Amino acid sequence: MLPLEKPQQVHRALAWQGEIPTYNIYTFGIAGERFFRELKEHGRFLGTRCPACHLLYVPPRIYCERCFASLEEWVEVPGRGTVFTFTLAYYDLDGRRLEHPDILALVRLEGAHGGVLHRLGEVEPGQVAIGMPVEAVLKPPQERRGSILDILYFRPTRR
Ligand SMILES: [Zn+2]
Repeated sequence: MLPLEKPQQVHRALAWQGEIPTYNIYTFGIAGERFFRELKEHGRFLGTRCPACHLLYVPPRIYCERCFASLEEWVEVPGRGTVFTFTLAYYDLDGRRLEHPDILALVRLEGAHGGVLHRLGEVEPGQVAIGMPVEAVLKPPQERRGSILDILYFRPTRR
């Protein structure tokens, strides 16, 4: 039977109260597996280069998104690059206001196409600019787990 009146409590019409057990296994994929293993074990960044259009993908891909060539050339990339774009987050994932905003940036590593999305550190929000040179700060080797969080943050490059 269809409801004839506008629901007064919308959540009753749209929500089923209860629990559904869900289980997920997320894999990094072929290229991501190698990328994170190299970061964990050697603290190095890897990308893949397209033999046809010469784009260097970081994070790596196994197929070129432009010409669909198979990518089999693995290249070490320095853990430094530039801020491609950035934003400030004033609230955490639970909606609590942060005392200091997180600076989230897409960092394009040197010579690479694409970028690594991560936090910036050792810098104030007002000092960040697009094109700013930055470098990765990694966790100590014994604390790395093979995830993006093996990078603590990117900071302005020290020269
Ligand atoms: Zn290509």
